[in-house]
Amino acid sequence: MIQMTNVSKWYGPVQVLNNASVQVNKGDVVVVCGPSGSGKSTLIKTVNALEPVQQGEIIVNGIKVTDPKTDLPKLRSKVGMVFQHFELFPHLSVTENLTIAQIKVLGRKPDEAKTRGLKMLDRVGLMAHKDKFPGQLSGGQQQRVAIARALSMDPMVMLFDEPTSALDPEMVGEVLDVMVTLAKEGMTMMVVTHEMGFARKVANRVIFIDVGGRILEDCSKDEFFGNPEARQPRTKDFLSKIL
Ligand code: ATP
Ligand code: MG
Repeated sequence: MIQMTNVSKWYGPVQVLNNASVQVNKGDVVVVCGPSGSGKSTLIKTVNALEPVQQGEIIVNGIKVTDPKTDLPKLRSKVGMVFQHFELFPHLSVTENLTIAQIKVLGRKPDEAKTRGLKMLDRVGLMAHKDKFPGQLSGGQQQRVAIARALSMDPMVMLFDEPTSALDPEMVGEVLDVMVTLAKEGMTMMVVTHEMGFARKVANRVIFIDVGGRILEDCSKDEFFGNPEARQPRTKDFLSKIL
């Protein structure tokens, strides 16, 4: 599904991804963790070319992201992305937020887009809020709408960048529950998070990136959590701080 091979990226003189190779197969739930500034956000943004790279190759479902001739809007329409800040359109209702990209990007008819959007809204438990505006919702509710909006596009893969880290603690659970359900239903997901409870529950792989953008660990969840002696010193140090 996602094949990154020897990807390197620099901001000016600063290297932020260092020869990163990652393979994500259909149905994988890959958790990406690592210290602040290690390149986690950059790594997942390269998947839909929100961040260009200087070296290496990225292929998503057969589409070569790193090829300048690739139709990026088309690719992005099939890669769902949920960020730390919900980034809903504040001047549009929940329903309009759910339908606008389906209509404008996928060319769906308004009725069809609404049916699909509301189905996804129901799935995240927010049907009662369909006519509200984002500002009338809690952070956790807004984030669930953001997830429903991404799902409305029928993505082939979902990318999450710390989707719960801007939320009040009591709202983290409701967003993680939605993500756990998605994972269990077989959605292919790449998730930057420090929620190790989520990782233990549904990840099948865990990637640890160190500052400088080097992938230090890429192993199964059981290996990552169950075999601490085999982890790199940097990983142990990181885990001791967050667990
Ligand atoms: P955090 O946990 O704080 O979200 P992160 O692991 O997601 O961090 P990135 O946001 O990917 O890290 O950033 C990696 C490095 O690239 C950091 O050193 C950051 O300062 C730098 N960086 C990110 N965006 C830019 C930019 N637009 N211009 C210059 N440097 C940048
Ligand atoms: Mg980040």
